[in-house]
Amino acid sequence: MLEDKDRIFTNLYGFESWSLNAARRRGVYDGTADILPKGRDWIIEEIKKSNLRGRGGAGFPTGMKWSFMPKDNSLPHYLLINADESEPGTCKDRDILRHDPYRLLEGALIASYAVGAHAVYIYVRGEYFNEAAILQQAVDEAYSYGLLGRNAMGAGWDCDVFIHRGAGAYVCGEETALMESLEGKKGQPRNKPPFPANAGLYSCPTTVNNVETIASVPEILRRGAGWFNGFGRPKNNGTKIFCISGHVNKPCNVEETMGIPLRELIETHAGGVRGGWDNLLAVIPGGSSTPLVPAHLCDSVIMDFDGLREVQSSFGTGAVIVMDKSTDIIYAIARISAFYKHESCGQCTPCREGIAWLARTMARMVRGDASVDEIDTMIEVTKQIEGKTICAFADGAVWPIQGLVRHFRPLLVERIEAYRKTARKA
Ligand code: SF4
Repeated sequence: MLEDKDRIFTNLYGFESWSLNAARRRGVYDGTADILPKGRDWIIEEIKKSNLRGRGGAGFPTGMKWSFMPKDNSLPHYLLINADESEPGTCKDRDILRHDPYRLLEGALIASYAVGAHAVYIYVRGEYFNEAAILQQAVDEAYSYGLLGRNAMGAGWDCDVFIHRGAGAYVCGEETALMESLEGKKGQPRNKPPFPANAGLYSCPTTVNNVETIASVPEILRRGAGWFNGFGRPKNNGTKIFCISGHVNKPCNVEETMGIPLRELIETHAGGVRGGWDNLLAVIPGGSSTPLVPAHLCDSVIMDFDGLREVQSSFGTGAVIVMDKSTDIIYAIARISAFYKHESCGQCTPCREGIAWLARTMARMVRGDASVDEIDTMIEVTKQIEGKTICAFADGAVWPIQGLVRHFRPLLVERIEAYRKTARKA
């Protein structure tokens, strides 16, 4: 269990004020002016050594991503901070924005220097109105105290931060859709390559990072890469904010070490499964797009990138959705399919048509109004969609169905047979 002295997010619950004075008392901006003079290469190397991986879902190594930014400054460089937190089950960035905004702004200053960007855009989910308002106040105050702007903190680096509010489209959390949206166009993902480090916002070199990732950076540099990578297993290091929701006694966000066993996470921090551990049916471990893990595997699941891969799921955003035995698991996955059908941007035929077809079929599966063969057809369709589209949205939309069929096929068959029996009687 993570000790309080090792927590990065010391005001996660908003027990203290988010103000600059309170943030300073918590250690934010301690020694920041000494970090920048160590140089861009030193910062990137230290972040590489820390093994910090992106906390927004994809888990790409942060230091490596920063190192892709060209050293040539003939074009403007941009840093985009992705606060378009829309993955169902995920609500961690929200707590950073509203309770600890200066930690994010401190990280933004350091990261902007590391990637050579004088302009930082924070793209905030449209529904986070209050959070965006707090963040804007924090930005204004940071300017007035010289923590942002020209020669920020007297470190010789100019850094401007702009807040942009989204309009509620899930797909704008995809980095290239986010850039399109920022440029004032429809938020639709771009084909890659070119990758953002070569041609991103306004066709200029761009790095996109998640809020939690950027907010973790200053503390890693203050305490050293060795401190951060001392937590968790190799390549799965550090601490992470987990969001625990659903059928638990005390839903919560909590910062813990990577690699904590799922059962310990739920029982220690969320008061256990409603009705006891034996009442567990399944867990969606990393936000709605990750395949569910059935109860019999949950006993031994390790909460990190490799641990979830071992059970054919994914770590995603670390948002754990717990479902007890009262759950109609077919309906739950059908609801997720309906969400993805609604959020598809519609550019790719497999995504636009395939996910709509899957959502309609899943709606029939809930009633049992289907044939057993259609279960295999559904899986065949998911395979035709996966990896064949412009962005990873479609993969995330089909994984929940694959997880359902992998672990609950007998339940689907039972539901179909029960429907047939009733229909025959009628
Ligand atoms: Fe749009 Fe879906 Fe294609 Fe992504 S996969 S670009 S969301 S249609």
